[in-house]
Amino acid sequence: MEWVENPITAARMLDDIKREVRGKPKPLPHVTELINCLTRSYYNRFKPLPVTDFEALIFMVGIGLERVLLRPHKQNLGGEVEGIHFEADFLDYGQIVGELKSTRLSAKKDPGQMPQNWRKQALSYVYAVSRYLKIPMQEAAMLAVLHLMGEYNPPFPTLKVWDLKFEAEEVIENWKWLKGRKDIYLAHIAENKVPRQFTYNEPYECENCPYKMLCEANQMLDDMKGGAVPSEEHSREFKPVV
Ligand code: SF4
Repeated sequence: MEWVENPITAARMLDDIKREVRGKPKPLPHVTELINCLTRSYYNRFKPLPVTDFEALIFMVGIGLERVLLRPHKQNLGGEVEGIHFEADFLDYGQIVGELKSTRLSAKKDPGQMPQNWRKQALSYVYAVSRYLKIPMQEAAMLAVLHLMGEYNPPFPTLKVWDLKFEAEEVIENWKWLKGRKDIYLAHIAENKVPRQFTYNEPYECENCPYKMLCEANQMLDDMKGGAVPSEEHSREFKPVV
């Protein structure tokens, strides 16, 4: 038997995945686009760059997990609460909001080293679901994490599940923060203005971000102009609840 590598078909397969990545635009604004870097959310919605091979493959892993591994256990609940659209997953292992994430982070990481955006997402869904269904807040969620690289030692991968418990104030403070982000984001959209780079994001979000070169170039331009940041730009930002 002869093995012949076929890069042309590999490229075609990647192109097909990339077509799926963008999908249909979600209603504006939705929870994840407000939690994630607002600059990136703006670019993704209004000035998207072509999807990279890396993004396409990460997307494929996430979709594969959702569609295949958990399909029989998954129910979606989506809607709009206080002008913010959400789409929460319920995994029927306990009938609480459940999220499934895949990551290259080591399974050795403790929860404090996980992306804070996962926590904000869970808090947001807890609030949104309770308001949408007009039920008391559950103050609990479930986070299932597929560590693709395990502990960077075999066996790969590793699945870990975390039960999250919240205080009611934590949920409410997070929602207030999210609504503040909504106001900032929609104000920029109304002005056709990209939210300022490196201002509305967690630093780790810049790693592997497709817009990083653009942000660095814009930062250089701002620095050349004297680094002036319109004062209202900073004052409008709400610090995340961590
Ligand atoms: S490089 Fe950083 S600031 Fe710029 S869009 Fe990406 S995550 Fe946001």
